[in-house]
Amino acid sequence: MIQDREELLHYGREMIARRLTTGSGGNLSVCARAEKRILVTPSGMEYLSMTPADMVACDDRGTVVEGGRRPSSELGFHVALYRHRADIGAIVHTHSVYATTLACLHREIPPVHYLVGFAGHKVPLAPYATFGTPALADAIIGTIGSSNAILLANHGLVAVGPDLKSAFNVAEEIELVARIYYQTLLVGDPKILSADQMDEVLLKFKDYGRQPAAGESGK
Ligand SMILES: [Zn+2]
Repeated sequence: MIQDREELLHYGREMIARRLTTGSGGNLSVCARAEKRILVTPSGMEYLSMTPADMVACDDRGTVVEGGRRPSSELGFHVALYRHRADIGAIVHTHSVYATTLACLHREIPPVHYLVGFAGHKVPLAPYATFGTPALADAIIGTIGSSNAILLANHGLVAVGPDLKSAFNVAEEIELVARIYYQTLLVGDPKILSADQMDEVLLKFKDYGRQPAAGESGK
């Protein structure tokens, strides 16, 4: 799990470097399902002063099993998401500015740009609930469906993926789309892609992420 600790720290620092959060905002985790272990960033620590040893290991119910730090105050929704969707292996939660702006307007993100496909057909919006509460976990579980990203009203963004790199990419791409959507709203009337157009995008994304197996042409 030492590799996971280093990876969490790396992407925590990337969140700062790529302006997806500031200070100690947001949090990240990875889940090793076979071992029923969740590794999560500690509560209230600045990413730039963390070390791999500060990451907190929990069981699949969120009980701390290793580490001297308190886990992120949002561990509850991380645990709930891993339990809810077997395809999730990592979670990145940010307060990135444009996604959060839309979340404060209670606007979900429609397919205004094909990169919404990183999340799915759209980025849904979970209703407001106080941070760190079971009510927030319930709001997320009740809204996320099969999406890889969800806005939290008056709060921020949650991105998920099979691994940390994927979840981080989703967070970064959706922040870009959020900015584009916000800017199009300022100028006028954004043109939204149809469900059929997004179906085509999602199909291509699937192909794009797949390496040709031995014997395939690789076209
Ligand atoms: Zn938060």
